[in-house]
Amino acid sequence: MTTAAGLSPVTRSTLADGRELIYFDDPGTPRRAPVRDARDLPPRPEPGELRYDALSGEWVAVAAHRQSRTHLPPPDACPLCPSTPSFASELPDPDYNVVVFENRFPSLGPALAELPSALPWGETVPAVGRCEVVSFTPEHHGSFARLPYSRARTVVEAWAHRTAELSALPGIRQVFPFENRGAQIGVTLHHPHGQIYAYPYLTPRGAQLAEAARRHFDATDRTQTLLGSLLDRERSDGARMILEGEHFSAYVPFAARWPIEVHLVPHRHVADFAGLTGEEKDELTDLYLRLLGGVDALYETPTPYIAAWFQAPIDPVLGPPSRFHLQLTSPRRAADKLKYLAGSEAAMGAFINDTRAEDVAASLRDAVSEARQ
Ligand SMILES: [Zn+2]
Repeated sequence: MTTAAGLSPVTRSTLADGRELIYFDDPGTPRRAPVRDARDLPPRPEPGELRYDALSGEWVAVAAHRQSRTHLPPPDACPLCPSTPSFASELPDPDYNVVVFENRFPSLGPALAELPSALPWGETVPAVGRCEVVSFTPEHHGSFARLPYSRARTVVEAWAHRTAELSALPGIRQVFPFENRGAQIGVTLHHPHGQIYAYPYLTPRGAQLAEAARRHFDATDRTQTLLGSLLDRERSDGARMILEGEHFSAYVPFAARWPIEVHLVPHRHVADFAGLTGEEKDELTDLYLRLLGGVDALYETPTPYIAAWFQAPIDPVLGPPSRFHLQLTSPRRAADKLKYLAGSEAAMGAFINDTRAEDVAASLRDAVSEARQ
């Protein structure tokens, strides 16, 4: 257990099957004595497997055991609500602030190991890595956007803590905190929560972005970063800007791929959550809440989204040119219409966007300022 003045107290515990559980409490919360998880849980499942697709050079995680995971449970059977006398959830304590724990049905892990760079056809290796769940609040109903500032700030602290620890685990190449929000995009639990995947390989999209960042870095004699240059262009142009702070700015990127797409980018070149200063985390929390509030104000019903926090890969060559940032995307293209990834996007990765970045930015600017009133 560690605490320091003004910081979120962190308390470590263990679930009945040995999974790690970590409480992150709002500053000023009394020290926590975790309640023992008294459930009689079966042993943790064996990891799935990783197969290497030689055709594309991509790893595929096969996690057949995930078919049995919980799907949209009612509040009285929600694994993320605090335990009650009549229902033992994943969280033994009767209350908590923010909690992170190892996923009971992980796509990756719990074993850890270095992966080979490729595998011959027909061979598999255990799907090593780690998958964690981050519950943002003990309240079953709600959303990240409606968290009070202090609670959202504790979530940011949890992301930074987990990024530092997961990055140091054997074989981990990329740590990816994310939130899927909305049943329309496959959410299996309504309770406000996110996940963190610690991959033993560089993901295809992560590698694509990191390679582009490296090319730009090298082409400018390591004087300019790609995301820093794009941020400068967006800020001086202004047409797609949504929020500008002292340490972060948010804009719809010039070549947005999704009907709603916003990038929230630090002004300083920083690799990940763990590298942010306290002041930067304070402002990030504020801007992120305002941004999500704006997205929720666009329509009368909540908008499904994916909040994807891109962090520099753990790689001596691809890491240094890569800058931490958020890509917030939604397939919603009208009040009652979602974009589906069909032939061009799903098969070819070639996006066709029905919206103009400048129009989306104008709507979001209005929505963000309305949401604040
Ligand atoms: Zn719940």
